[in-house]
Amino acid sequence: MGGTAVNQRQRLPGLCVTGTDTGVGKTAVAVALVRRLAACGVPVGVYKPVASGTSADDPHGDPRRLWEAAGRPLGVAAVCPQVFRAAVAPAEAARAEGRAVDDALLRSGVDVWRRVSDVVVVEGAGGLCSPLSDATLVADVARELGHPVVIVDDSRLGCIGRTLATVHAARAFGLVVAAVVLSDVTPPPAGDARAAAVDDPRRIAAAAREFLAARLAPLPVLRLAHGAAAIEPEIDWLALCRLAPVPTDSAGGQR
Ligand SMILES: [Mg+2]
Repeated sequence: MGGTAVNQRQRLPGLCVTGTDTGVGKTAVAVALVRRLAACGVPVGVYKPVASGTSADDPHGDPRRLWEAAGRPLGVAAVCPQVFRAAVAPAEAARAEGRAVDDALLRSGVDVWRRVSDVVVVEGAGGLCSPLSDATLVADVARELGHPVVIVDDSRLGCIGRTLATVHAARAFGLVVAAVVLSDVTPPPAGDARAAAVDDPRRIAAAAREFLAARLAPLPVLRLAHGAAAIEPEIDWLALCRLAPVPTDSAGGQR
């Protein structure tokens, strides 16, 4: 179903930030990415197909954070045209308001960024295989928009397994994986040395990065430290935005 959507619209270069699950640090990564691209002097669009558990004027909500990172282009409604209050899956949150997620708008909502930006950073909701509506997964929209994906996971126990599973799933959906970012959602533990040895996201991220980089080479495996402004090490994100998508008629193909 994706082929037509991409072919009918000229693709805006960009990246889709997705993750292994909800709450793994996607927005922090997307914000850092947007700021980095904007610092290159490129007008950056920001798009979230649907958000739940927030409102357009929530300063801590994803739509507003993405909008601020991009320098407040257009308006928050352009960043996320479908916002629902309840902190449950989008389809359920919409039903709680007597509404429904608009499947066509999940895809077409990005079009407004074509005339004001050279690249767009899209943030999914939940993980790669999470539903955005009763009919559409994050992976479906990522594929139809044609953007390479950045896969984010939290730097906590299990990140190697979660990340590898999601990278393989992304490729099975026909997506190009641009990079993996381990995001420290929690700060390093203070005090107790034993707890620090086991739970310290710095230690987990270092070990996981080494393992994943070897396993997924030449894919960049990067890190966003807790509270840090930049994803390390620095890479050419603009070049990744322009990576060609896997042809849309090759669903199930590998990169
Ligand atoms: Mg988010």
